[in-house]
Amino acid sequence: MKKEIIKKLIDIVGKERVMSSDEDRICYSYDATGKMGIPDVVVKPKTADEVSAIVKIANREKIPVVPRGAGSGFVGGSIPIHGGIALVMTDMNCLIELDEENMIAVVEPGMVTYNLQQEVEKRGLFYPPDPASLKICTIGGNAATCAGGPRALKYGVTKDYILGLDAVLPDGEILHAGVKTAKGVVGYDLTKLMVGSEGTLGVITKINLKLLPLPEKIKTALAVFPKIDDASIAVSKIIASRILPSSLEFMDQSAVKCVEDYIHAGLPTDAEALLLIEVDGDEISVERQIEKIGNVCSDTGARDVKIAKDEAERESIWKARRAISPALGHIAPTKINEDITVPRNKVPDIIRRLKNIAERYKLNIVNFGHAGDGNLHVNIMTDRRNTEEMKRADEAVSEIFSATLELGGTISGEHGIGITKSRYIKDELGVTGIEVTKKIKRVFDPDNIMNPGKIL
Ligand SMILES: Cc1cc2nc3c(=O)[nH]c(=O)nc-3n(C[C@H](O)[C@H](O)[C@H](O)COP(=O)(O)OP(=O)(O)OC[C@H]3O[C@@H](n4cnc5c(N)ncnc54)[C@H](O)[C@@H]3O)c2cc1C
Repeated sequence: MKKEIIKKLIDIVGKERVMSSDEDRICYSYDATGKMGIPDVVVKPKTADEVSAIVKIANREKIPVVPRGAGSGFVGGSIPIHGGIALVMTDMNCLIELDEENMIAVVEPGMVTYNLQQEVEKRGLFYPPDPASLKICTIGGNAATCAGGPRALKYGVTKDYILGLDAVLPDGEILHAGVKTAKGVVGYDLTKLMVGSEGTLGVITKINLKLLPLPEKIKTALAVFPKIDDASIAVSKIIASRILPSSLEFMDQSAVKCVEDYIHAGLPTDAEALLLIEVDGDEISVERQIEKIGNVCSDTGARDVKIAKDEAERESIWKARRAISPALGHIAPTKINEDITVPRNKVPDIIRRLKNIAERYKLNIVNFGHAGDGNLHVNIMTDRRNTEEMKRADEAVSEIFSATLELGGTISGEHGIGITKSRYIKDELGVTGIEVTKKIKRVFDPDNIMNPGKIL
């Protein structure tokens, strides 16, 4: 990058927040996919005005701008594949306002999701979206990917909590979208358009979030299924029993074994599947609900249903669930991680089809995820140096996506498209959907400087 541009960036944010050494640039070159693209410079702004000034320079000079939160994304969204400026938002991490009366929080995008949850829970309030990465990922990254998480089953995903936001557009102007009220319908819904746009339409600099009252009580159960088919049938039966758990998580045997090897939590590795089920609400209703769910599981073939007695037991169940992603890193060097979603009643069908695909392509596929949403994380464990196996994995991914769409599902429930799924989106959006998406991108970003090469 030209020296005079680096100098201009330093003039905006100060020397210590512009980094151009090889070490610094490499640190911001990858995300959780393990793929890489090295930025020319890393800049850490502190205010929306700084972001605006940086983007104006980039727009004038036609330099790519790649917004970045914690870099925990699973689709390569924050990787600077065309170089340019890695715009790291983690220094904009304040809780600007907590309006308890109206149950609204206003936050900067770099705030870590868990930190926000802790802050609001101190006041008896609740921010439900809980990606398993919540201790590291940022609210801005969650907004840009429309992150989900285990609680999406009952509470929805990030977009359901974003009332309004500010974003710096590719020409450097600041858009104030949406509201700071419980509702509002003035004009097109630009807030929702920005949410899930993966940093391709602008840089989110402020977010107004809806909060809920903190549930009084939580009950958590772990159900052990000797047969995987029974576990997937239990998912449909629980939903059909008119109880809406806050979480209904699934782990297949490979996921259980992998976690057990990693953290030695005493999980039953002989079981073909586990379901982690959580309900929340008032004291009396949660007791009734967890008992009913336990009965459904037992009637469907669970050999054991353990209900956590206290917070420590609950935490140890969740620790096992949250350890899956890091544990997978220990069983193979490369993980191809998909997050397909099917209608809930099709979970048994997709599980059967995944098993069949794994057998036919001779691949180690580990499945876990938010089964209550029909959202499964399908992990093909491989080694990118093994070109023959990678070819089989690639064909298996195409078949997994076709099966998902055939069952009425979507190729991504929460991780987004980034660079890893862009070649498949036409199968879901169709020609018209792609054309409209391209036109929207051109309106916002005619010179394609904002996170180029992502989604489309
Ligand atoms: C162990 C693990 C578990 C996970 N579990 C879940 C899960 O349960 N549910 C789930 O949905 N995801 C999950 N993820 C994926 C990931 O954590 C989410 O996608 C998260 O929302 C990314 O946040 P981030 O701050 O790391 O963003 P990054 O990875 O830095 O960026 C993600 C995308 O957002 C854009 N972006 C970031 N900040 C901004 C901004 N301020 N303005 C505009 N664009 C921006 C980037 O350009 C990129 O396209 C998991 C990841 C890991 C590693």
